Amino acid sequence: MASASLDRIREILATPISRLRGVGPRIAEKLEKLGILTVEDALYTLPYRYEDRREFRRIARLREGRHEVFAGEILVAGEMVTQRTRRRVFEVIVGDGSGQIVLKWFHYRKEWIAKRFPLGRTGVFSGEVKRFGHQREVHHPDVELLGEDQTLAQYQSSDPLIFGRILPVYPLTEGLTQQAVRRIWKQVVDLFAQHIVTHLPADLCARRGLLPLAKALQDAHWPTNDADLLALEEGHDPGRRTLVYDEFFFLQLGLALRRRGVLLETGIPFQVTHRYTKPLADLLPYRLTAAQRRVLGEIKHDLMMPHPMNRLVQGDVGSGKTIVALMAALLAIENGVQVAVVAPTEILAEQHFLQFHHWLEQLGLKTVLLRGQQPAAERRGILAEIAGGMAHLVVGTHAVLQEGVEFHRLGLGIIDEQHRFGVRQRAVLRQKGENPHVLVMTATPIPRTLSLTVYGDLALSVIDEMPPGRTPVRTMVVIENQRRHAFELIRKEIDKNHQIYVVFPLIEESEKSDLKAATVGVEQLRSVLPECRIGLLHGKMSPEDKETIMGRFKARQLDILVSTTVIEVGIDVPNATVMVIEHAERFGLAQLHQLRGRVGRGSAPGLCLLMKSFRCSEEGEKRLEVMTRTTDGFRIAEADLEIRGPGEFLGTRQSGLPDFRVANILRDARILEEARSDAFAIAETSEFQEGATEEMRSLAAELKHRWGTRLGLATVG
Ligand code: ADP
Ligand code: MG
Repeated sequence: MASASLDRIREILATPISRLRGVGPRIAEKLEKLGILTVEDALYTLPYRYEDRREFRRIARLREGRHEVFAGEILVAGEMVTQRTRRRVFEVIVGDGSGQIVLKWFHYRKEWIAKRFPLGRTGVFSGEVKRFGHQREVHHPDVELLGEDQTLAQYQSSDPLIFGRILPVYPLTEGLTQQAVRRIWKQVVDLFAQHIVTHLPADLCARRGLLPLAKALQDAHWPTNDADLLALEEGHDPGRRTLVYDEFFFLQLGLALRRRGVLLETGIPFQVTHRYTKPLADLLPYRLTAAQRRVLGEIKHDLMMPHPMNRLVQGDVGSGKTIVALMAALLAIENGVQVAVVAPTEILAEQHFLQFHHWLEQLGLKTVLLRGQQPAAERRGILAEIAGGMAHLVVGTHAVLQEGVEFHRLGLGIIDEQHRFGVRQRAVLRQKGENPHVLVMTATPIPRTLSLTVYGDLALSVIDEMPPGRTPVRTMVVIENQRRHAFELIRKEIDKNHQIYVVFPLIEESEKSDLKAATVGVEQLRSVLPECRIGLLHGKMSPEDKETIMGRFKARQLDILVSTTVIEVGIDVPNATVMVIEHAERFGLAQLHQLRGRVGRGSAPGLCLLMKSFRCSEEGEKRLEVMTRTTDGFRIAEADLEIRGPGEFLGTRQSGLPDFRVANILRDARILEEARSDAFAIAETSEFQEGATEEMRSLAAELKHRWGTRLGLATVG
């Protein structure tokens, strides 16, 4: 296809939705709220389910648990008040000669609903059929009433968009009827779907059973009458499958190119001299686990290449990522370059600093800590040491990425707990040196499908083994009135000279109330456990005060550390054995897992007490249940992804996870894998790289159009 006509097509697809027949300003505004501005937006807003209106089902034959469509006469209609709960319910009974069924509304406006169901009128109803005792019910069904003198036969033949086919059901906002939306979408699909061009190579489409995009769109919106209803319901119909594949394919092709782009850049190839790594290995009080050694081997391999490393190390909380990072850092320093370590919080940066400093000092190397807030003179001094190359390793928060921080020769950047940082920060780090190697570490065990997308251009290493001698942390949910029991358990541990964390959730509305909850908590603990030494750590404290408290806890001068969530990531005090989480139901699963990972790090078994208040949401219950069931970070992440959905899971904006138009990462994991392997294979071919065929050139042009700016693919096409 010549590019001039492609441009014309893009213009057509950019037609404002308001230009369509039947879309006035009022409706246009409502559609806008749904994010639908152009006909292209509408084309890619697929039905979220379908309604089988090829024929009505007789009421006697309605299937429980299924979404059914039926017609019937209104026999009874009126408001009831339930005996037990005094709840108002609007009930309508309809019948069709074969049987009767009860329709119920629990939320309604009375004036409106009372007029809506004239006795004797026939209507078409749809909704999920449920059974309660002997009675079958549909709650909040969709309703379409026939005209006063209209027969069912007349209704059925009156409009091709209401009967005799499988109908799409679109996501709606209030004030838009399904009928109106269907009419608009029918226009959109009839007029515009034909313009959508397939850019995927023909042999790929044949191999994966993909339809031409135009056909895929038509089928996904208006399935033919011989369509497989089950496949449609589950989202595996060829139309939708094609659209999902197409969406994934181009993203993965972009990621493949970005990875290749990095591979083509020249970096600093390191040599392994063992000058510092060997002495460190001798100093360590333990041997690295097999998994740590394997991952370190993968990192070494990358570092010796003449192009920059771009690797993600994934390892559950406590799997020992820090030491792997330290080894990688020494390897870099052996080669005469500097290393930057970026952590998400001040406390964690501080901790890393102490640890790195502890080891590097013994090797005669200099570590510096760059804080967000630091006395100007101190800061100037540190900046000078970084710029002059005296500092071998620089630890800090995002402060390290700020302007004004100039390195003498940055050779390796390490980002800890990557889920807190975005793609952009990685790019900034890169610019602090001449294509330094980049290593990112995360304890968020991202399910594979998600990491393929979020970190699609990174190579992946997994530390899938815990250091020896750990026993899984025992986890118990403690209800408010069992507090005493919790205090008993805490006392017992303190008698064994172990230490305890007590964590309070962050209450969004006000930082003051967080603090208050924690302060009250401390008072309560002091009165119940008067012999214990208790410290409080919270977000409002100055960095120095935080350090002091952490230092005292580490030095075992405190038995209990009460804290707001500042200790969430990375804190390492092996003598701490109990983690008490107050209002555990308010925490997300990832956070709970991180917090629990703070204990059970030494040889003594760990205990995690999840304090649950009486008021706990259903989702909260689900999360706590997951926590008691497993300590496996990957399982927890999968459950989390299921409970929350992919957008929320990492926080879309931070993670750089794109919003998909049709694809659903959970449901479409298989298609994602297929599209990825196909895209990566094509990116490797010389045909594509050289744009040798029309097909490949069109692929590259489409990629540039869709992802060029977002993925920074300046050189594509
Ligand atoms: P994370 O992966 O969560 O960052 P850390 O690096 O903080 O974990 O390590 C957790 C704890 O395990 C630390 O106390 C560390 O000293 C210890 N550790 C790390 N590797 C080993 C090992 N191979 N054998 C024994 N202990 C180890
Ligand atoms: Mg860590």
